[in-house]
Formats: sequence, structure tokens, C-alpha cells
Amino acid sequence: MSTGFIRKLTIVGGGTAGWMTAAALSKLFGTQLHIRLIESEEIGTVGVGEATIPQIRLFNATLGLDENEFIRETQGSFKLGIEFNGWLREGQAYMHAFGAIGGRDLGLVPFYHYWIKQHRAGRAGPLGDYVFNSVAAYQNRFLRSASIPNSPLSNVQHAFHFDAGLYARYLRRHAEANGVQRTEGKVVDVGLDPESGYIRHVQLDSGEQVEGELFIDCSGFRGLLIEQTLKTGYHDWRQYLPCDRAMAVPCASVAPLTPYTRATARTAGWQWRIPLQHRIGNGLVYCSEFISDDEAAALLLANLDGKALAEPRPLRFVTGMRKQFWNRNCIAIGLASGFMEPLESTSIHFIQSSIGKLVAFFPQHGFSQTEIDEYNRQVQFEFIRSRDFLVLHYLANQREEPFWQRCRTMQIPETLQQKIELFRCSGRVFKEHEELFTEPSWVQVMIGQGIIPERHHPMVETLGEEETRRMVDGVGALLQRAAQVMPEHAEYIAKTCASAVG
Ligand SMILES: Cc1cc2nc3c(=O)[nH]c(=O)nc-3n(C[C@H](O)[C@H](O)[C@H](O)COP(=O)(O)OP(=O)(O)OC[C@H]3O[C@@H](n4cnc5c(N)ncnc54)[C@H](O)[C@@H]3O)c2cc1C
Repeated sequence: MSTGFIRKLTIVGGGTAGWMTAAALSKLFGTQLHIRLIESEEIGTVGVGEATIPQIRLFNATLGLDENEFIRETQGSFKLGIEFNGWLREGQAYMHAFGAIGGRDLGLVPFYHYWIKQHRAGRAGPLGDYVFNSVAAYQNRFLRSASIPNSPLSNVQHAFHFDAGLYARYLRRHAEANGVQRTEGKVVDVGLDPESGYIRHVQLDSGEQVEGELFIDCSGFRGLLIEQTLKTGYHDWRQYLPCDRAMAVPCASVAPLTPYTRATARTAGWQWRIPLQHRIGNGLVYCSEFISDDEAAALLLANLDGKALAEPRPLRFVTGMRKQFWNRNCIAIGLASGFMEPLESTSIHFIQSSIGKLVAFFPQHGFSQTEIDEYNRQVQFEFIRSRDFLVLHYLANQREEPFWQRCRTMQIPETLQQKIELFRCSGRVFKEHEELFTEPSWVQVMIGQGIIPERHHPMVETLGEEETRRMVDGVGALLQRAAQVMPEHAEYIAKTCASAVG
């Protein structure tokens, strides 16, 4: 193949992945790239995916989107974290909140080490009392970061809940305005170069052949190009994350409008609750070995906060990732690249992250296998370490049901085992390389799941008993006071970014 710039990019699929990719690349490359996106209304999209993590703000900012407009357009709400309800045992709950734990770290020792000492001595409340987003979330309050020096209000990390279908439609407007050409149609065949095995064109049901130099497979679970055509292969992770089905149903909104996602453990899986402006998104993720589809639907419908607005919709999935995300001249993004249950709202982030890496590794003709390998290595690393983080939620449970007993005794990845052991014996945890989840995330989930370190950092002892008590109590009180300044989440939305039909 010759060298030179790639000019023709073809995206197959117009779900969240397809339109995020089209919007980002058209914005960044301008007229240098001719982008065609093919989607089929008849096939439709997966139709779920409503909770995100704070990194999405960076993606939206790159596109130049106005945050209030984006929220209005997508019936969005703000998200400060995820509450895990019943994951350790029935009746227990904790929050994995975005942002820092405590106040400023003292010297090199993170605040949570002081908390560990106080907690073990029975002199501190739950860790969430010392995490600002958690304190604010439980008061149903929200305010964007404000420039108030030395205040927790100056660093509020937020993400969103939104209607992913509306988000895709919103991005489509931006992408089309940037010159992306959308084609309605079904891909019925794929033409390969007989020598290289590279994709030359996709054939539509209209008979048209759409050529491309680079193909982005955003066709969802089916992986039309990456799997059905290129037979890339899949790493199946059900031995670590045994849930394989979901049932999704929206219900009517109820007050208050909570600024957090809720994940509630159930008999053989867990239920999500995602509050949007106009409805609540709900779903049950479950393991089909332990509960039937009918039982799952009944369980979900029996646990809604408002009136169901539709029939429960079943979805099936195999947790895992493609053996290669980039194979020849095809890159899989979104569900076509792999899937992990939405326990930590990672899928839309993986789309964003893959787009970022695609830009970093954007190829020229003559595709370099070294670059392709490095791209695959980096995406794989992020998938694998995020998988470990999800497994942690299941592993450390004290629930009685057979499904949960199985999770407790599962063989777990060695990397995760090491992380847990290090934390258990010393309270230490470190973010490695490009891992998505940082120390505060690991600490909150480990402690929430009952993994309490046996020791705190020795430097904690340089502060006297009384001083430690005053410092830890002082942080808790400061966070409470700062949260009181924030308006109610619903009031903040009403003032800044309410959708036309609320
Ligand atoms: C139960 C569940 C809950 C989830 N919750 C969350 C969440 O809370 N947060 C989060 O970040 N993510 C979540 N996700 C993941 C999220 O939904 C997806 O990552 C996101 O919607 C991207 O989907 P997609 O665009 O890859 O695929 P899809 O939405 O399936 O889109 C596929 C596209 O390909 C097109 N297509 C397919 N075949 C053809 C063909 N032959 N010809 C032409 N076009 C074709 C379709 O028409 C469609 O446009 C969840 C997923 C599931 C299953």
C-alpha cells in the first residue's frame, strides 16, 4: 500500500458510538477527512446507556458544546457518584463518589489514612461522610465548581445522566454541520481486498458500494466488520463477571431528583436507577443461570419508584472484549469492541477513550503494524483494569443467595488479588499507568465492600491523637457546611438547564 494521508473514513453504525466518533473526527480533522456514516433505522440502536463519568465533560468541551444546552437537549441531570446498595449485605449502602476523599492531603499521606486510624478506633463515621460529592449527593444538592479559594465547592467533580438516543441525535446535528455525510441503509455485504484482506467497501441494501480507506465499526454487539467479516475473536470474561442479560424499563419521575446513580444488589444481579429530567431509567442486570427472564422482569417491575412507562426490554450480552480492537483497516468502537455491564458507567467512556486514542494513532496509508499493536495494547489495558474494578464489587460480598456465594468464591485476576492484598495489609493503593480508576475510587469501593486495612500509614502518627481527631472531625464538619450552601439539584436544573418538556 502507498503512503499518504487517509481522506476517506467510513463509519458503520449511528448509535452513541457512531455519532460520537463522527462528531469528534469531523470537528478535529475538518475538511481533511471525508466522513460517511451509515446507519439503519430499521435495525435501530441498543437504546440504553444513560450514566457517565466526569471525563465526558472533556469530550463535550472538545466538541465545543455548551454544557447547559447539552443537558437541555438530552433531558440530562447531574451525577456526583454511584450509590451501591446492598452489595456488601442487605441494608448496607455506600457511595462511590467522584472527586477527592477528605480535604487536602497532609504532606504525602492521603487523608483516608487518618480516617482509617480514627475509624478503627470507632471515632469516625462512614468514609462517605468525608467525601464532598457523597455528602452533597445524599442531601440531593448540586452546584458546579465555583472559584471559592480553600472551599470544597471549588472542586466539584460531576458527570451526567442523559438520554443516549437524544445525545446521538444532538451529536448528529453537530457532525452533519461539520460535513459528515449520513446514509440511511443496511450493510448487507463487505468487500475485502483479496491480497491484504483489508476492507475495500461495504455494500448497502440499495445496491450502493461505499468505499473507505479506514472503517470504523460502530455496529453494536453484532460487530459487523470486526467480527462477522474479519473474524477477530473475543475474550469471554463471564468467569469473572457472570451476568449475561439485562431487562430495561423507564418509569415516571419522583421527587427528589437525586444527583447520583443507584446500583442495588438483587437476588442474582443488580438493578440500576438513573434519574433524568423527564423519567427514571431502570434496569436489572442478571445472570441467566440463577433467574429466568420472567422472574427478572417481575423483580424489576416490583422495584420501580414510579409507574412503568413501557414493557421491560430484554437484552443479552457476553462480557468481554475483542482480541484486537484494531484489525487491518478496521477499528471497533462502542459495543462492537466489547462490553462490560454498566456498574461503573464505563461504556460511553470507552467510546470517548477509543476516539482519543484513534486521534493519537491516526494512521496513514500503509498502516504501521507497530502502531496498531500499541493502540490495541493501550485499549486492552484500560478494559482489563476496569474489568478488575468491576469484579471487586462482586467479590467482597457477604450476601446469602447462591449467585452471590458463587461470586465470593470466584477465581479472580491476579492483578486484582494483589491490589486487594496490598490494601488490606497496609491501606496502600496505587493507580498504575493509564488505569481509568484512580486511588479515591479504589479506596471507596474497597472500604464500601468491607475491606478495611489492618494498618494506616506510619506518618499518621506524627500528628497527636487529639490533633488527628480534630482534623478528621473538622473535615467532616466543613464538608457538611459547604454542601448546605448548594441549591437542591432540581432547583439548580430548573434555573440553568431545564429541558422544554420536563
Ligand atoms: C443493559 C445496558 C445498559 C447500559 N448502560 C450504560 C450506562 O449507563 N452508561 C454507559 O456509559 N453505557 C451503558 N451501556 C452501553 C451503551 O449503551 C453503549 O456503549 C452505547 O450506547 C454505544 O452503543 P453503540 O453505538 O456501540 O451500539 P448501538 O447503539 O447498538 O448502535 C449500533 C448502530 O449500528 C447500526 N447497524 C447495525 N448493523 C447495521 C447494518 N447491517 N447496517 C447498517 N447499520 C447497522 C444500527 O442501526 C445502530 O445505528 C449500556 C449497555 C447495555 C447493554
